[in-house]
Amino acid sequence: MSITTVGIVGAGTMGNGIAQACATCGIRVVMVDINEAAVQRGLGTVAASLDRLIKKDKISAADKDAALGRITGSTNYDDLKAAQLVIEAATENEALKVKILGQLDSLLPADTIIATNTSSISITKLAAATKRADRFIGMHFFNPVPMMALVEIIRGLATSDATHDAVKSMAVALGKTPITVKNAPGFVVNRILVPMINEAFFVLAEGLATPEDIDAGMKLGCNHPIGPLALADMIGLDVCLAVMNVYVEEYADSKYRPCPLLKEMVAAGWLGRKTGRGVYRY
Ligand code: NAD
Repeated sequence: MSITTVGIVGAGTMGNGIAQACATCGIRVVMVDINEAAVQRGLGTVAASLDRLIKKDKISAADKDAALGRITGSTNYDDLKAAQLVIEAATENEALKVKILGQLDSLLPADTIIATNTSSISITKLAAATKRADRFIGMHFFNPVPMMALVEIIRGLATSDATHDAVKSMAVALGKTPITVKNAPGFVVNRILVPMINEAFFVLAEGLATPEDIDAGMKLGCNHPIGPLALADMIGLDVCLAVMNVYVEEYADSKYRPCPLLKEMVAAGWLGRKTGRGVYRY
């Protein structure tokens, strides 16, 4: 299947990033959100991001105009019918996603592939909200989408090979490197990353080193671009804790127990950059 138009549900952080990645690669985009203000915010973010690329001499003003010209913002789901692939990138809330996916399923042509950018909800479960589980898949982009090379492609229990292959080719066409993953909590990257961050909190709680030295250790010793504690502050300590709790619930394996210090800091409202204080102060 050739994908020339992509529909995106949600014009937030991820939705507008995916829109930019598609449009700069010559793919037409229909980006839908709940109201005109949200759509305009998303389009404005793409324009500002393209302006930064012009300043860095990565693209020309004409490239920017061409990319923006390929994106149609809308508040009407009917406009998504033009797409061969619709990527759901709305707020991370299971009930909301189930509702949106049911709506898309009854509206879109039978052969349209539906993908979700969820970071944590089961792809198999979300597929069951549609009557096209074979044409349903996880397409997990990373933030910021225009910069990050990886796309995790997550197969639900019933995802067909044709759907997988079409979405994988699409990711390559966007200049991304896809990896294929079976459906499981955290997929691959967050399954490894978040327990590592949790372990950094144990190391901190045991007083083995200062936060600065723990972060310096992982940056200089493992070539990570950012230390695990600084990264936790960026992601949000509450998000890290929520992810560990999902692993505890799904795997019932004590190796995923959240660090008591992480729990304590979340209870204190020290959630990271977004609250001005996490492991570090901002
Ligand atoms: P966000 O809050 O920035 O954007 C969500 C957008 O969805 C908002 O603009 C909201 O108005 C819109 N929306 C809500 N209900 C809608 C509806 N019924 N129809 C259309 N639009 C609707 O969130 P985000 O960070 O872009 O996250 C979106 C998805 O991507 C989530 O599933 C999240 O888990 C996933 N994700 C996020 C990141 C990240 O770093 N932020 C990384 C990977 C995946």
